[in-house]
Amino acid sequence: MVVHQTPTGSQDSSAANRGRRAGGRQERGRPPTHLADLDAAGRRAAVSALGQPAYRADQLARHYFGRLTESADEMTDLPAPVRQSLVDALLPLLLTAERELTCDHGATRKTLWRAADGAYLESVLMRYPGRVTMCVSSQAGCGMGCPFCATGQAGLTRNLSTAEIVTQVVRGARALARGEIAGGQGRVSNVVFMGMGEPLANYASVVAAVRRMTDRVPCGLGISQRAVTVSTVGLAPAIARLAGEDLSVTLAVSLHAPDDGLRNELVPVNRRWPVVEVLDAAWGYAAATKRRVSIEYALIRDVNDQAWRADALAGLLAGRLAHVNLIPLNPTPGSRWTASAPVVAAEFEARLASRGIPVTVRDTRGREIDGACGQLAAATRPAAATRPAAATRPAAATRPAAATRPAAATRPADTGPGPAR
Ligand code: SAH
Ligand code: SF4
Repeated sequence: MVVHQTPTGSQDSSAANRGRRAGGRQERGRPPTHLADLDAAGRRAAVSALGQPAYRADQLARHYFGRLTESADEMTDLPAPVRQSLVDALLPLLLTAERELTCDHGATRKTLWRAADGAYLESVLMRYPGRVTMCVSSQAGCGMGCPFCATGQAGLTRNLSTAEIVTQVVRGARALARGEIAGGQGRVSNVVFMGMGEPLANYASVVAAVRRMTDRVPCGLGISQRAVTVSTVGLAPAIARLAGEDLSVTLAVSLHAPDDGLRNELVPVNRRWPVVEVLDAAWGYAAATKRRVSIEYALIRDVNDQAWRADALAGLLAGRLAHVNLIPLNPTPGSRWTASAPVVAAEFEARLASRGIPVTVRDTRGREIDGACGQLAAATRPAAATRPAAATRPAAATRPAAATRPAAATRPADTGPGPAR
């Protein structure tokens, strides 16, 4: 399939937005507060603090979440003299599309975003018959160090704010509403937190983002909670906390190995929360939400794809509210690891299925642009943005203990930086 690169910038063409973009006075690592960071009370308080009647908060939110606009010119129900100041104060430009790559005849679009402080992140829009899924980033980079993952190899830049997460979806929704995506006008029906970052290491911002995405207009985007998937490397205490949020989102757990020996290598945070603890937390989540947990398993040739591991995985999942998603590894350049042979993947799938475990092999949509775009991200990554700012580090409660942070020396030597998956 052909990969197209397109120049970007069409989403913010007004003079006011050019001014906002040119401003560039953003303190590194601290995105400005945005309407989407705030709940209804916070929005009203922010508008009141600007000397405006509180109901203007609803008007503004309706423009942002409902009409998907950030342009003051289009907010004709707001008095002309205050429109721009409200937009400047509450809808600061957070993300600028730096590159866009499309494939699948335009039905898949990956965007490399630059945040106000220069951090880079990526999102992917995938249009299927009957649904559109946005794959979003929760962090710029990731600190979990999984050696098969390019994002992990590059390390953590910083957590994203709630609004930076929500904005990725808003931009996708706007492109769809304007008919800019192949297939005509549409809406975002699903969101998966499977872009850059570990969502549960940025817990508060991610949960607030889920609420903004799923609250009804004017409080949010009105996406069904059941259509949102939070994928985690397995931060057990944070999974337990998520189970208490009264959210009906799907939990995906990236397991990748049924045994601690191998999982310690593939998912270094396993040294802190081993397989049994991660799965216990997952079953707690399933019990609390009555939602089937998705077990993600990247099939890596001759590493985790043996028949005995399929059997061991089946043993762990038997009788549980779980579904296995097998993902052919998307190899990162320079890595010794590659995807399992199709016949081996089919055998792995068949062994799970024969033991009554629901299993599917994930569609590899956008695989070509994954590689290409990751290379762009690596190439454009500013050195200054690769260091996590102290103020934006994940809270201690959700961060893996320092001792379990994968040291470079513990990673396989030949899995150097490469494109995001
Ligand atoms: N940090 C979270 C969510 C982002 S990663 C997590 O790990 O779950 C989203 C998914 O992509 C995870 O299941 C992750 O294991 C998988 N992934 C990462 N690198 C990959 C690669 N090179 N090939 C296939 N899947 C990959
Ligand atoms: Fe982070 Fe997930 Fe990549 Fe692991 S797989 S490094 S947790 S983004």
